[in-house]
Amino acid sequence: MGLKEEIAKRRTFAIISHPDAGKTTLTEKLLLFGGAIHVAGAVKNNKIKKTATSDWMEIEKQRGISVATSVMGFNYADHKINILDTPGHQDFAEDTFRTLTAVDSVIIVVDCAKGVEIQTRRLMEVCRMRKTPVMIFVNKLDREGKDAFDILDELEKELEIAVRPLSWPIGIGKTFKGVYNIYQSELNLFRPDKQKVTERISFENIDDPELDKHITADLASKLREELEMIQEVYPQFDKEAYLKGDLAPVFFGSALNNFGVKELLDCFIDIAPAPRPVKAEERMVEPQEQAFTGFVFKIHANMDPNHRSCIAFVKVCSGKFERNTYYQHIRLGKQLRFSSPTAFMAQKKEILDEAFAGDIVGLPDTGNFKIGDTLTSGEDLHFRGLPSFSPELFKYIENEDPMKQKQLQKGIDQLMGEGVAQLFTNQFNGRKIIGTVGQLQFEVIQYRLLHEYGAKCRWLPINLYKACWIESDKPEVLEEFKKRKVQYMAFDIEGRDVFLAESNYMLMMARQDFPDIRFHFRSEF
Ligand code: GDP
Repeated sequence: MGLKEEIAKRRTFAIISHPDAGKTTLTEKLLLFGGAIHVAGAVKNNKIKKTATSDWMEIEKQRGISVATSVMGFNYADHKINILDTPGHQDFAEDTFRTLTAVDSVIIVVDCAKGVEIQTRRLMEVCRMRKTPVMIFVNKLDREGKDAFDILDELEKELEIAVRPLSWPIGIGKTFKGVYNIYQSELNLFRPDKQKVTERISFENIDDPELDKHITADLASKLREELEMIQEVYPQFDKEAYLKGDLAPVFFGSALNNFGVKELLDCFIDIAPAPRPVKAEERMVEPQEQAFTGFVFKIHANMDPNHRSCIAFVKVCSGKFERNTYYQHIRLGKQLRFSSPTAFMAQKKEILDEAFAGDIVGLPDTGNFKIGDTLTSGEDLHFRGLPSFSPELFKYIENEDPMKQKQLQKGIDQLMGEGVAQLFTNQFNGRKIIGTVGQLQFEVIQYRLLHEYGAKCRWLPINLYKACWIESDKPEVLEEFKKRKVQYMAFDIEGRDVFLAESNYMLMMARQDFPDIRFHFRSEF
């Protein structure tokens, strides 16, 4: 098979949701369809539970699980599907954001009773920023939930995207009878007792009186009315709008009962994008280009503290990656080759000989890689990763053991390179400040510094509201600002100027006093 065909059959995506909406369950059902697993319960939820904060073994175990389920590849209906897993816990939201840089589309799972929750909204912001095509699966229809039209309104309003139902529920909770597949004009009846086999009956015409025999006459007339309403309210499904990230097709079902999942999957492989062009600083890179290019979007440290080895996850952006071939590591300016790159097929890791644009390759590493690094066949290219966002929590990090200063430094450098948290160095006094999105990350850092680097750190409080990346068209104003605010200026890990605002008020005043400076809560604008 040629390069073009290989790439055209790939679908690389992430399933995202607020914790408990059913992401793990849906993932598992998709893997069952692909024949990648054979029993339910094989996919472990990599949720890191809040109660686990003091239970380190638990976190280590969870990290193990999350490596195993980081990427799940399988074949289905002549397509190669790569599902990228994302941690549901909000303290690890950055991980999820970065994973979203490596996907070509996204499926969002929403609980039909809870509707759009906070984590879903945040993740959608990133999708919107990147114009990632999004499909929505409204889950748990076997339970009582909100009215389907209300859910659509809520999705549209809360996620700020136009929606178009492609399937429609018949009843809900106790009265849940099935879904009408609008995309295929097909009625799917739900039998809660028969978990996997669902009955599919095609109806050319929804007015067919046969329909009344399969569901009650009442439900049938309600369905007809609602479908009519959908036709009136929502324009015809526009695939181009979906691919541009302007429109989200919506499906209803129950992941647990494997109901409505196949409809989602079949439509997904039909309409979801194959690998898309990726923007590098220099130019747009097309997946079908012959020369290999890729970037590191995730680094996972090994569990074994005696071997400080990691796996760098590389998204192949163009061409074909091959084992034992020299590639250019752009940041280091060095040629590297890999003798045991791994493919992720469902839950197995296996050595791969080649991988194509759209695939994820795992490279065993001992410190060569940082998040965002570019690999190419030789061309000088820099893929743009995701910008850094202002952390929510800040603490000074200090050395507890004077004999281990070097180890601490190295540990901090590597953990930040992995993207565990963000480091800011105060320009005035050189003190190091770690910023995170959640308390759990501080605990993970402290634990890992000790166990992987033998370095002890302590945290000291610092009163900060936000980190702001600053820019101005007037360099002299920027210089003046930096001089005036020197105690509050820091460098981020890439040496960019960051203003550390103690409070919203302080930020407001700075904005007022320096109208020529723009303050951003993220590092790229
Ligand atoms: P995640 O946190 O998003 O990965 O959610 P999980 O897949 O772990 O699901 C959370 C809980 O919801 C589990 O107890 C599932 O069994 C349950 N669940 C998932 N899908 C459904 C569904 O369709 N109906 C019902 N009733 N429960 C579901």
